[in-house]
Amino acid sequence: MLYYSGGKLDEEITYVKGVGPAKADLLEKEKGIRTQWDMLMDIPFRYIDRREFKTVGQVYQEGELVQLKGKLLRKNVQGTGRRKRLTADFSDGTGTLKLIWFQGVQMMDKLLQPGMEVIVFGKLGFFNRQKNMAHPELEIIKKGESQREHKGLQPVYSSTEKLSKKAMDTRGIRKITENITEQLSERDLPETLPAYLLKKLNLISRYKAIKWIHFPPDHRELHEAKNRLAFEELFALQLKMLYKMKLRKKRFKGHDFPEVGSFFHRYFKEELPFELTNAQKRVVRQIRKDTQSGVQMNRLVQGDVGSGKTVVAVLAMLLAIDNGYQACMMAPTEILANQHYQKIEEQLSRIGLKTAFLTGNIKGKKRTEILEGLEKGEINVLIGTHAIIEDWVVFKNLGLAITDEQHRFGVKQRARLWKKSKERPPHVMVMTATPIPRTLAMTLYGDLDISVIDELPPGRKPIKTTKTSDRHRGKMNQFLKSEIAKGRQVYVVFPLIEESETLDLANLQEGYDQLLDQFPRPQYQIGIVHGRMKPEDKDREMQRFAEGKTNILVSTTVIEVGVNVPNASVMVIENAERFGLSQLHQLRGRVGRGAEQSHCILMTGYKLTEVAKKRMEIMCRTNDGFEIAEADLKIRGPGEIEGLRQSGDLNLQVASLATDAGILQSSRKVAKAILEKDPELSHPDNRLLKTMLKKHKTGDIIGQIG
Ligand code: ADP
Ligand code: MG
Repeated sequence: MLYYSGGKLDEEITYVKGVGPAKADLLEKEKGIRTQWDMLMDIPFRYIDRREFKTVGQVYQEGELVQLKGKLLRKNVQGTGRRKRLTADFSDGTGTLKLIWFQGVQMMDKLLQPGMEVIVFGKLGFFNRQKNMAHPELEIIKKGESQREHKGLQPVYSSTEKLSKKAMDTRGIRKITENITEQLSERDLPETLPAYLLKKLNLISRYKAIKWIHFPPDHRELHEAKNRLAFEELFALQLKMLYKMKLRKKRFKGHDFPEVGSFFHRYFKEELPFELTNAQKRVVRQIRKDTQSGVQMNRLVQGDVGSGKTVVAVLAMLLAIDNGYQACMMAPTEILANQHYQKIEEQLSRIGLKTAFLTGNIKGKKRTEILEGLEKGEINVLIGTHAIIEDWVVFKNLGLAITDEQHRFGVKQRARLWKKSKERPPHVMVMTATPIPRTLAMTLYGDLDISVIDELPPGRKPIKTTKTSDRHRGKMNQFLKSEIAKGRQVYVVFPLIEESETLDLANLQEGYDQLLDQFPRPQYQIGIVHGRMKPEDKDREMQRFAEGKTNILVSTTVIEVGVNVPNASVMVIENAERFGLSQLHQLRGRVGRGAEQSHCILMTGYKLTEVAKKRMEIMCRTNDGFEIAEADLKIRGPGEIEGLRQSGDLNLQVASLATDAGILQSSRKVAKAILEKDPELSHPDNRLLKTMLKKHKTGDIIGQIG
């Protein structure tokens, strides 16, 4: 988010030449633009090189983006109702091409007249060997204007149908923006970065950058403008996060866990059936170090599904207990929390510790008992859902709070954990199985220390992933039967998308019925789990599957998170094209936990979009969560990444987390170096940075307390 330090550009857009109250109103409604500065922050999403035209005769590649200049010959409206469409023949002397509109037919019909000179830009298509272009970006060349308008790179702005109707299509918006920038002087757009930084990093001034991001004379200037603004954006974010992190470390003392005591040792000796991987050992060491530093720990532990985060969590909790503190662990779903509880309680009770389980559904006497046990310190470990952070849950002395699968929790919840311990906040550890690309982690969790468990326990066989479609369902069922005959279990997952929950449930039920047909009782047992079931019923079904009583578990994505049934070795994902990459990867991670070869089968429809095809291809190619996360970021952009939606909008206007990783890294490095030298930014050279800290808003969304 780029900010404005105040001045002329705060004036309302109404007063700009060519706007007026009606247009201003619409701009605010449609795009949230109120001031002139807002208008300048409406950054073009593309630029057209107006100097480069192709000719109809010269272009031949389907899907190619081309810009053509020519005349409209005749137009024609065909069909009625939803089938209605407008076609217009376009010619530039070298050939003709059909322009087609399926939407806004009436409006375009009014606008377009045969004989008009136009520039069209769009994707080349073919129909019956005839070249066409559907919904081109179109510009009518007015006499006398063509010379001035078609110089340099031309910005393209996003518009809406309502805006277009009021002459604020990309061209109209461009005109308004031009009117603002023409009146602009250096004084109206003061510098926000210190001169020494500009010089050192070879960045252009803010004034120039904002002018050029809208009207770049050429590619070089555009690049410089983007570079400068993206740097500023990411740098401000990093500066703010690092500053707050320092402040927090100074302000919040941490509980001290000097001892590795008897509980830790006993668990290690008696309850741990395997050797820790090197990655697990490293993370435990990092936690040890954090909890003896005198500073409150805030650590993100990232580890792919199945990398063994739970043991690390238990060991960390034992450290807390060995030093006289309580610990808690919060999971996003009841199923997952319960699974953790069952396993951990069993182990910890054997070494003499008391573990309790709390969810919103646990009420009355049972709840009262737990609450008393917590306040008196008789309960050592509390495991549960969101209920744990409710105000009525009071600990005697909480030393460590862990959240599993962090991406399901919002930042506010993270902050609430902090208040669970008197005087000092507890150490906080968040565990996530969504491998977040480094760039994102740095931006989202830039105020956390990050550990990565980058090694799977030994003996795991990589999961074999294949893609198939309905046509081969018979063959797949045969395969499932052969796996079941070997004693393995199968998950079949259906997508559940909130907007059409009932429809999806019907889908799930239908799939379930079909499976019942194909896998008849009593030879086969099939269970079903979905979000609309009562928690008890859900748990019972899960339990039956975990105990091997059911061969196939049909479910919605409620099993996505954390569930661990090592004997389940086949994951069938129905309508796989409807899932995002990271979700597919999470689901696949439910298998491959035992010693057998595991399989993931992606069942898709016939017609896949390019993006969906790519996703399937990546899934079949790799098991590496980080590679998948990077690919996901590239395909979908950061806005769609799981977790980002909940973690607040980063509001980046120019920078892109997908492509500006380099700038992000350098911005963090620079911010770090500056804060090391001048922690309070009190040096006169850093005066502008102090303002930046105050003005920059985005940093506030990131895991802060108070
Ligand atoms: P996740 O990181 O997905 O939460 P879990 O903690 O559920 O993974 O661990 C997955 C499985 O791997 C569990 O069955 C666990 O007991 C096992 N496991 C964890 N660490 C090791 C290890 N070092 N060696 C062998 N098995 C391990
Ligand atoms: Mg887990």
